[in-house]
Amino acid sequence: MSTIIMNGKKTAQDIKDELKAEVALLKEKSIEPTLAVVLVGENQASQVYVKNKKRACEYIGIRSLSYELDCTTSEEELLKLIHDLNSRSDVHGILVQLPLPKQINEGNILLAIDPSKDVDGFHPINVGNLSVGREGFVSCTPAGIIELMKRYSIPMEGKKCVVIGRSNIVGKPISMLLLRENATVTICHSRTKDLALECQGADILIAAIGKANFVSKDFVKKGAVIVDVGINRLENGKLCGDVAYDECFDLASAITPVPGGVGPMTIAMLMKNCVLAATK
Ligand code: NDP
Repeated sequence: MSTIIMNGKKTAQDIKDELKAEVALLKEKSIEPTLAVVLVGENQASQVYVKNKKRACEYIGIRSLSYELDCTTSEEELLKLIHDLNSRSDVHGILVQLPLPKQINEGNILLAIDPSKDVDGFHPINVGNLSVGREGFVSCTPAGIIELMKRYSIPMEGKKCVVIGRSNIVGKPISMLLLRENATVTICHSRTKDLALECQGADILIAAIGKANFVSKDFVKKGAVIVDVGINRLENGKLCGDVAYDECFDLASAITPVPGGVGPMTIAMLMKNCVLAATK
């Protein structure tokens, strides 16, 4: 059995090319999809993420408006900017890069974004829509995982899926999406008893933990599909996932690499949400 490497970099490029064509059609109808990108402070990782998002916008033809605010910005000032962006008809999507400086309550900011412009899918209305099966924006990393598996024709219906991690941005929404695909879903976390045993039953194993090489071969059933969401930086500067890739590779029927797996899909799905927002 040879293992399929699910290439998120290539798949994301395909999606961006499809979106580029869609945006060209929208522009013929005088609609210019526009994303407002808000960055507060000088977090280095955030600066890289924002740069990559703006670059993807440029490639596809989405206009990006950049708001780079000082790290001393108050919650009131940021709320005022969001209210202004909410009321602008030429702005279709609003993205506030997290984390925010500690004087700003993230929950208040996410709540302030108009749900119809919430391309990150973090607003409780969109989270609620996902859980009751209504249309809405789905957060980008989980949406990217489903899209990647679909494009590699990985069947999900009836499969036993184990998700390690229960965060609001990955673990919980990916579990809801897998349920929507008619999978049988188990959600594990730091208090799960005998995690390896839970994982050994998985046809599809999703690791969203944030611990380098945490998932060893003892967690993996032969033939399982492994999706590695983790992005961890090792002491030598290299990036690695939550899955011990080399030792799990031969056991897996399909696996995502880090980097080049889920990461690029996240940005592609953000772009997809922006185009969707403009289309609506
Ligand atoms: P969080 O820290 O919010 O959540 C981590 C989850 O892992 C928690 O639910 C936690 O359990 C669980 N966990 C921690 N330790 C263990 C353990 N020993 N055994 C079992 N479960 C454990 O992280 P995120 O969900 O935000 O991100 C997870 C990873 O994915 C990170 O590496 C992050 O960088 C990456 N990421 C990648 C993205 C991409 O685009 N590829 C996007 C977003 C995140 P508990 O709830 O009990 O604490």
